[in-house]
Formats: sequence, C-alpha cells, structure tokens
Amino acid sequence: MNLCDPKTIKDIMSIFGLTFRKEFGQNFLTDIGTVQSIADSCLGADTILEIGAGCGSLTHELAQRYRHVIALEIDKGLIPLLKYTLEDDKNVDVIQADVTKTDLGVLLSEEFRNGKVSVCANLPYYITTPILLQLLESGLSFECITVMIQAEVADRLCAKPGDSEYGSVTAFMSYFGKCERLFEVPACRFLPPPKVDSTVVRLNLYKDKPVKPVNEETFFRVIRAAFGQRRKTLPNALSAGISELSKAEITEAILACGYSADIRGERMSVEDFASVADEIFRRTEKKNEQ
Ligand code: SAM
Repeated sequence: MNLCDPKTIKDIMSIFGLTFRKEFGQNFLTDIGTVQSIADSCLGADTILEIGAGCGSLTHELAQRYRHVIALEIDKGLIPLLKYTLEDDKNVDVIQADVTKTDLGVLLSEEFRNGKVSVCANLPYYITTPILLQLLESGLSFECITVMIQAEVADRLCAKPGDSEYGSVTAFMSYFGKCERLFEVPACRFLPPPKVDSTVVRLNLYKDKPVKPVNEETFFRVIRAAFGQRRKTLPNALSAGISELSKAEITEAILACGYSADIRGERMSVEDFASVADEIFRRTEKKNEQ
C-alpha cells in the first residue's frame, strides 16, 4: 500500500469513515521522497517517538529504519486505520494520546534504559512551539529532534541575535542545542495542502550544555521578560518581568556584566542572557540575605 498516494489516502480515510480534521492540523504528506528523507534524519537512534502518526506514512518508513517506533496520535478515529496500515510493522506501538497531556518521561523510561531515543514528526502547525518547548523542558536526553514545521517558525528557530526573527523561542532552543535547517517542503506535497510552506529542521541536543546559568529558572525568566517587551531596552523590559529587584538595581546588574543600558534582548546571545541572569540571581540572593 502506498501511504503517500493521495487517492490511497482518501480511499482509506473514507473506508474508515474519516475526514481530515483541521482542528488537529491534519495535512498528510504525499511525497515519498520527503517522507524517506525525514525518516533518514535520525540515524543512530534505537527508538523513535513520533508525534502525530496521521495515516502512518512516516511511521512506516521509521519502522524500516529503527528498532522501535512509538507513535502518538490524538485522533481516536485514526487508531483503527493505523492498525490496518501498519499491520505488518511489528516494531511500532501506536498510542492514542494528546502529546501535551502525556508524561514522556514515564512513557519512554524503558526506551532510554535500552538505547538512544530521538523524536521525529511532521508536527501539527497549531501547536508546534508548545510541543517543542515540552520536549526540551522534559529534560529527557533525546539524541535529536527532527520536525517538519511551518517555514516561518523554522526561520525563528534558526535565527541569530540581531535577526528580525530572533526571539525568546530562538534563545530558549539554542540553550538546549543547535538548530539545523535540513530542507524545504512546498505546500503542494500535502493532502490537503496547507496555506504555508514547510521546513524540516533538526535540533541536535547538547549532551553537555555549553552555557550553564547558576539558576535555570531565573535564566528562563530573564529571556521571557527580555522579549515580553521587545521594543524596550533591556532594563525596562526586565523590570516589567523581574519584580525582586528595582529598575535601578537591574540596570546596575546589566552594567556590571559589561553591557550598555540601552541594549535590547534581540541583540543578546544565550551566553549574554546567562551572564545577566547570573548577576540578577546573585544580587537577588544578596538582597534576600540582608
Ligand atoms: N505523520 C503524518 C504525515 O506526515 O502525513 C501526519 C502529520 S499531520 C501534520 C499531524 C498529525 O498530528 C495529525 O495526524 C494529527 O491528528 C496529530 N495530532 C495533532 N495534535 C496532536 C496532539 N496534541 N498529540 C498527538 N497527535 C496530534
């Protein structure tokens, strides 16, 4: 069965009484070359977590390449269809679940004990960033995270300080790993075609993060606050998000790190954020001791 053939996809959907559900971001890939290239991009992994199996085209290609595939799918209606399309792929476990409500640590604990685990997915557009943040915040040591996402979101993830697309998500991601843009996928390669083009990116996660803030929570808060008020200078932006110190104290902390008071978050690298966050954390601790 060719799971990338539009007619085949439509026929099986209709046999199982299903329609494409927009609210779940159901745009299925119809280009086998693209599906195979995505599946190839996690080489070295033993287990793959796939998010959003759809009708199983990527799941099937992953099953040919990796020891075990755990495929999550939110849509209950697709589960019997996936049982049918993946009948011969004995190394696949399809689980009906919403990834955002799933404890991935519990789900994958056995897999991490047995080998290397990576994530591979054609992500639903409506929820791309929350899923990426969930994967990173889980603290799980994935080898890599390969995802197909909206081209515009890929621009943001791969941006550098000073680029107009650079934002809190970029800084956050680059703390965890390096984002590699693999290839572009035009909208015409999906059924139904979405309104935008897509890009496949791979986030190669650091085993040992090069930047080590003293207090991770403060570091994340500083990044969020810096971009919460994007047009403001860093002292103004941070004073709106960090209530423990006054604006004057925050400005002093920024100056003590060697930055000028009119710097803006959009020009700062992860290293810069870590040094400001460390200084703010130290000054807050000191203030609390007094
Ligand atoms: N992997 C298939 C492909 O490449 O053709 C389908 C990809 S489609 C863009 C996204 C899939 O994710 C859909 O099947 C959708 O039902 C599923 N999905 C959407 N939200 C989800 C969630 N929160 N958790 C798990 N799966 C979800």
